[in-house]
Amino acid sequence: MAGKVLVTGGSRGIGASIVETLAKEGFEVAFNYHSRKESADQLIEKIEATGGKAYAFQADITDFSAAGEFINQAKETLGGIDALVNNAGITRDKSLFIMGEQDWNDVITTNLNGYFNVTRQLIAYFYKNKNGKVVNITSVSGLVGIAGQTNYCASKAGIIGFTRALAKESAKLGITVNCVAPGYIDTEMTSAMPEKHIEEIKKMIPMKRMGKAEEVADLVAFLLSPKAAYITGQVLTIDGGMTA
Ligand code: NDP
Repeated sequence: MAGKVLVTGGSRGIGASIVETLAKEGFEVAFNYHSRKESADQLIEKIEATGGKAYAFQADITDFSAAGEFINQAKETLGGIDALVNNAGITRDKSLFIMGEQDWNDVITTNLNGYFNVTRQLIAYFYKNKNGKVVNITSVSGLVGIAGQTNYCASKAGIIGFTRALAKESAKLGITVNCVAPGYIDTEMTSAMPEKHIEEIKKMIPMKRMGKAEEVADLVAFLLSPKAAYITGQVLTIDGGMTA
């Protein structure tokens, strides 16, 4: 068995691919969904059909105590946790001059505070065990500015700073903390964009296509493997050459 891992936002998109890939690689996975129980149940059925083990729990990671409850349920069900993948995130794209306070707060609360709420309540457990790996899903929007995403760019750049500082706090115990920064990946988050906009985006990507969620999942699986033991505090970008 490769280990026991907790994934946030595993019910669809990149998170669902991470859950599926890790289960295929022999990890036992506990993940949360926010409102889409049906998607979570379907994913578990798919994984169990191929002999994998995954468990889903409802949780809103913007709520500190709900995040703690999810961690406790995962620990109990899996019999421990060796790794955390912070993935749950949202967008509320709008130019700043028309952005409402709610659009700003929703994105920061989910993408940044949500990562704090989960990591804060798991990291001491990793320290106690002198064992643990953290992978934070950020975005190229944390590396470069994207018009219409001041809230999202701020949250994703914040995750990078959070990752680097935590990596330095955790390194002496052999605990690694890294970021994966995807470019445009084909999920519900991006398919919500107008078709014309998607075509424009493809033109500016050197590889001329969107990334696949499975490609991001493979990178996460690498970071959780013993092969990545000496990598910490880094941002691994996967974007078809967009930020080259
Ligand atoms: P999706 O919108 O497809 O999925 C989002 C996931 O997060 C769902 O599982 C959802 O649960 C969960 N979620 C949302 N809000 C909460 C909450 N408050 N509490 C707990 N869970 C929540 O997103 P993607 O797969 O596209 O994105 C996943 C991550 O990758 C995000 O952090 C995103 O910023 C990042 N990313 C995505 C890119 C892309 O092009 N798609 C590019 C770069 C980064 P439910 O299904 O129940 O609603």
